[in-house]
Amino acid sequence: MTTYRSYIAGRWIDSTSGKTLPNINPADTNDIIGHAQMCTREEARAAIEAAYDAFKSWRKVPAPTRGRMLTLMARAMEERKEELAQLLTHEEGKTIAEARGEVQRATNVVEFCAGEARRFTGETLPSELPNNWAYTIKEPHGVVGLITPWNFPIAIPVWKIAPALAAGNTVVFKPASNTPATAVRLVEMFIEAGVPEGVLNLVIGSGSVAGDEIGNHPAVRAVSFTGSSEIGFKLYQQVAKRGIPFQAEMGGKNPVVVLEDCDIDLAVEHTASGAFGSTGQRCTATSRAVVVDKIADAFVSKIVERAKAYKLGSGMDPATDIGPSVDEAQFNTVLRYMDIGKEDGATLLCGGKRAEGEGLENGYFVEPTVFDHVTPDMRIAREEIFGPVLSVLRVKDLDQAMEVANDCEYGLSSAVFSNDYNDITRFVNEIESGMTHVNSPTTGGEAHIPFGGIKATGIGAREQGSTSLDFYSELKVVYVDATGRKREGNLY
Ligand code: NAP
Repeated sequence: MTTYRSYIAGRWIDSTSGKTLPNINPADTNDIIGHAQMCTREEARAAIEAAYDAFKSWRKVPAPTRGRMLTLMARAMEERKEELAQLLTHEEGKTIAEARGEVQRATNVVEFCAGEARRFTGETLPSELPNNWAYTIKEPHGVVGLITPWNFPIAIPVWKIAPALAAGNTVVFKPASNTPATAVRLVEMFIEAGVPEGVLNLVIGSGSVAGDEIGNHPAVRAVSFTGSSEIGFKLYQQVAKRGIPFQAEMGGKNPVVVLEDCDIDLAVEHTASGAFGSTGQRCTATSRAVVVDKIADAFVSKIVERAKAYKLGSGMDPATDIGPSVDEAQFNTVLRYMDIGKEDGATLLCGGKRAEGEGLENGYFVEPTVFDHVTPDMRIAREEIFGPVLSVLRVKDLDQAMEVANDCEYGLSSAVFSNDYNDITRFVNEIESGMTHVNSPTTGGEAHIPFGGIKATGIGAREQGSTSLDFYSELKVVYVDATGRKREGNLY
């Protein structure tokens, strides 16, 4: 049986807490993959102190040399893609095709950040005085705390660790408690790529212990969080008291707006893949379809047909379309929302319960679910479910569609399906989301393109792409006077 341990100051340590958490295959709860040793507060503190000590030398390593380590990491990820994907499917439950996609995206991010280390540039600025100029330098913060969720347990840690290291910070990484296996493997690979002792520390521990320590410890100079809005806002308050930079990507309730003149088959296919793919456990998952009345009946009947056609099962089986919910708590949350939808008066068209059948007996499987005639005030129209549940809201026209789509506390992703250029342009200009898609799913992203949301979804600088290193660096401005003489007059 594998034991997952924290990695502190260059050593895998045995926790003194005595507390362990089983790592359970969500497709088959009889399959215990390993046990995580949950760290104590003192151990989390030791990880922060190790990162603090290591910063003194790591900040002096030239940025291109730091980037070189990331290049080696990207190569190793490429070589071990299948092994990483299988571990991810085993632990988190997504299908093997989805897992391969996640590993590839993570590899692309590391590759991109390796290049960004060589482009860690400032600007040179002229002065109003002769023989004077100014320039800017980007510098790391010091110790950064990175707290990540379970739903992309390879890609999300990597899209925080790689830019943090490229910019010269040292890291304390706290993964979600239910995905320790992928976290340990990633850290092992960063070490093999040459990341020195103390520069990258892993704390396997609960949010209320290890996460809380990261939020409070004075040596942590910036915190990047991805997870629920509830935890993110709580952590924001904690971190704000210390006046340090904070970045958070949180919940979503992403709408697609389906207009009369769209290609309806395309709209159905992309809405279904956005809603049910990855078991609905993507922050960018489609959870609301806002559909104009004239095509609503046709849209609804096609999407129900599509939802019923998916094959559920273990993600290891290449024939599987949809894997299980990640764990018992998430499984129960999704079932509870299905009941809430029924109680609130939405029309259940398919799904709405635990999935049964051969091979599904011991896993957290739920049926892909479509609710019709959902109204904007219902909880299934407003709250993030994080399961394969689609709420269809019928509207009379684009005006009402915009009102309904924007009537939401979150603002991560969105999509429009239409062939009318003017309507598409209006949608793009008026939709309140950090990312939007035209005739494509609400999900997906690319390593070189910034990612993130607005409203209750996102706080701080965007992750990935040209903005990757913004959060992880400070700007220093340097004024140079090359005259060698006492200045006459002043600069204001
Ligand atoms: P979560 O419950 O908020 O947990 C996220 C992380 O925070 C975990 O590592 C968790 O540790 C830790 N944590 C819990 N309590 C904490 C505390 N008091 N202080 C500091 N850290 C604490 O979220 P989740 O269930 O793992 O992930 C699902 C959520 O993530 C969804 O809301 C989804 O939309 C969001 N998400 C957003 C994006 C985006 O880019 N917008 C991407 C992916 C996911 P434990 O595991 O030990 O509790």
